Amino acid sequence: MRLPVEDIREELVQAYGLGLPKRFLLKAPTGSGKSTAVPSMFLDDSEVDGLIVVIQPRRIAARMLAQRVASLRGSRVGDEVGYVVRFDNKQTAKTRIVFVTDGVFQNWCETNPRLNGIGCVLFDEFHERRVAGDVSLARCLNLQESDRPDLMIGVMSATIEMSGLSAFMAPCRELEASGRTYPVDIQYSNPVMSQRSGYPSREGVWDFCVNAAKQLHSEGDTGHILIFLPGLHEIRKTVSLLEQSSQFSEYKICPLYSSLSPKLQDEAVAVSAQLKIIVSTNVAETSLTIDGVKSVIDAGLARMSEFDANRGIETLMVKQISQASADQRAGRAGRTAPGKCVRLWSHTSHAKRAQFESPEIQRADVAELMLKFAAGGIDFTSFRWLDAPQENAVNLARATLQWLGAIDLDGEATELGHKMAKFPLAPRFSRLIFAGVEEGCLAEMCFIAAAIQGEGVFTRGRGTVGRSDFIYDDDTSDFAGEWRAFETAKRMDFQPKRCGELGILARGARECDLSWKQLQESVERLGLKIGSVDFDQRGEDVVRAAVKAFGDRMGVRLSSSTLAGRLCDGRKGKLDADSAARFADMFIPTEITEVDGKDVVVHFNRCISVNFADLERSFSEDLATATEVEYDSTVRRVVKKQVTRFKGLVIAEKVGGDPDKGLAAEMLAHKVASGELVLNAWDKKVEDWIARLLGLGEWMPELELPGFDEEDRSLALEQVCQGAVSYKEIKNREVLPAVRSWLSQGQQAALDAYAPKEVTLQNGRTTKIYYELGKRPWIALRAQLLFGVKQTPTIANGAVKLNVHICAPNSRPWQITDDLPRFWESGFEQMRKDLGGRYPKHQWTLE
Ligand code: ADP
Ligand code: MG
Repeated sequence: MRLPVEDIREELVQAYGLGLPKRFLLKAPTGSGKSTAVPSMFLDDSEVDGLIVVIQPRRIAARMLAQRVASLRGSRVGDEVGYVVRFDNKQTAKTRIVFVTDGVFQNWCETNPRLNGIGCVLFDEFHERRVAGDVSLARCLNLQESDRPDLMIGVMSATIEMSGLSAFMAPCRELEASGRTYPVDIQYSNPVMSQRSGYPSREGVWDFCVNAAKQLHSEGDTGHILIFLPGLHEIRKTVSLLEQSSQFSEYKICPLYSSLSPKLQDEAVAVSAQLKIIVSTNVAETSLTIDGVKSVIDAGLARMSEFDANRGIETLMVKQISQASADQRAGRAGRTAPGKCVRLWSHTSHAKRAQFESPEIQRADVAELMLKFAAGGIDFTSFRWLDAPQENAVNLARATLQWLGAIDLDGEATELGHKMAKFPLAPRFSRLIFAGVEEGCLAEMCFIAAAIQGEGVFTRGRGTVGRSDFIYDDDTSDFAGEWRAFETAKRMDFQPKRCGELGILARGARECDLSWKQLQESVERLGLKIGSVDFDQRGEDVVRAAVKAFGDRMGVRLSSSTLAGRLCDGRKGKLDADSAARFADMFIPTEITEVDGKDVVVHFNRCISVNFADLERSFSEDLATATEVEYDSTVRRVVKKQVTRFKGLVIAEKVGGDPDKGLAAEMLAHKVASGELVLNAWDKKVEDWIARLLGLGEWMPELELPGFDEEDRSLALEQVCQGAVSYKEIKNREVLPAVRSWLSQGQQAALDAYAPKEVTLQNGRTTKIYYELGKRPWIALRAQLLFGVKQTPTIANGAVKLNVHICAPNSRPWQITDDLPRFWESGFEQMRKDLGGRYPKHQWTLE
């Protein structure tokens, strides 16, 4: 069968204009041959010289596509066509086309920044928008624009929203190939989503799937049935229910997920005459095509990577897929004939789903990336982002890396940072490893890092049955107990039943074993000897090392009699009743969980206990204790507190005693300045005085009077507040004397002389001068009272004419002028005409 991409073979591979970059964007529906046919076109028909790399977001796709392309070309995987994924490398000197995961390619960009030996890079399934893909694409474009104009770069996807990307890649050839698609009848079904939280409720999703399959079966002509589920657990449950049901005896039931054996993976995808029910993760959404599917059942869920701030690691969380993903999944049913799709959610809830998946960079922890960039000399902020990471994530990452000592204040990688960047773990965990080296407890730190990656070796939800047997009173960390349980599980060969009897989660222990082995290898690759684990011997070393990697979330116990504690970021929660840290003054929770019940309860899990005395001994340089003051707004007084900081983070505060008077005055003054407290005597008189001072400073600069800005205001306030610790004491204090003392005797005299409060007019009358900031000062009088005042009065030694508000008999200004002679000439006559009739008793003739 001819694949749709064949139609654009020439356009795709040949004749890129002189001076134009060799770039293309290819949008074509799933199954049109992007992944399996395009790489071969470049190998067979183009001038591309060097390796053709096809980047896949998923390991299973990389492996299976390599298989398929190798067999289409009549060779075996590892010869002309190969693949490289983490821990599995099928690439040899003969390899010309290689399928790799985005993570592997990202590493290549670091170890081989010129991409020597590579002629063509194809980013497949780019709509997944994983960080590794985004970053590698930008780096390839930069490389092509500088050192490697010969490098061919292609981006391929079935669904990518093209416009933003095409601007990002411009100038760039944009191509589309269309495959034939048939209509798919979409039915919405009972919602599987939890009504309360709107979150997916996974329990029972397998029952819904099997019911939907039965319904489709009863309607007949199902073709292969493809079921989408979020993960292994749900897939296994569904498979076993389908196998038990007699209705599906004519179908072959095929699970499909990445840790499945290659043989079974191939079976799920292979062309077969026998009807199949394929129960798959979202790998079958667009990455792999299965021919002959006419029915789709979609649970609407997927495991997506998300940063778990509580564990400080990226984890996979089950989430609702977007509308765009759901459409892709439905489309799998309409490839060869009209099909059907059952969605296990309601029509109304569909409308509420996100339209597209957000790019991973916008939900990810960027600390690891930032450190890699710093180590590679790449500026993070000015990087060529397709979508930039969120500012708060960037700030958090920077602060964490600085705290860990991986980058300096300029954002440059430190010596430690360079070492950490090379280690295949997130920065906090690589810090843990190097802290283990420094403190002589590398083996223990490797175990802790491995344990945290997994969900833990103890069964959860059933209280602490069993667990407390593994934790001893003199342990310095909960990991000592976890290690004992892990060893026990290992001795029992991870048998679920036997482990379960002891409160050990066999699956968690096995997971931990895998990470533990991988870590050991990584550490040994650095030439380090790992030794054996002994938490009893090295308890104190473990604490010191843990403080270096996790000390920024140190917590203190609120009292020695409870399990309650507070972290330095203010979060409150409780320790486990059997935690090794339950007797310590301080603790470090490596994991924080929120348990949703009537109220949300925060639990501090997997703790390491820290004693203040030990901290003082080992980290004296990083500890600082200061006496500070704090305003307590309930009692409206300043209180004293003793604050202890560890590397700048507040780890303990003790309130009590008399505060320093100077600091107290400063604090009260600050509260007055911000408007939170009001001084009764800070009134119009004070504001007038300030206006006079500032005005005169402007009119007669030669006097060199001091200004009075916000800071001066605060200082004056401080003076008023001197000696006081509570609002009660300052509330009615005099203010003007404090403000006046701002000036020397001479300056005060000058102020009174040149910006007087009153002026005596030519007719002998004395009147108040009004001052206001930024305005010319003025006097205000009824016209009759101005008789005999021929000249406009002045102040500031004649430098400033006063504005005269000439008022009507009702005291309202009738005219404002700084030119009295003119008023007498003509203005007064006018005033008489206007007002004389209305106020006949007043004098309207000038004597
Ligand atoms: P795209 O990447 O555009 O989604 P592919 O290149 O993966 O498309 O697939 C092109 C066609 O090759 C599919 O329509 C399917 O018929 C066929 N195909 C792909 N992989 C296999 C396989 N492992 N076994 C049988 N057929 C396959
Ligand atoms: Mg594909």
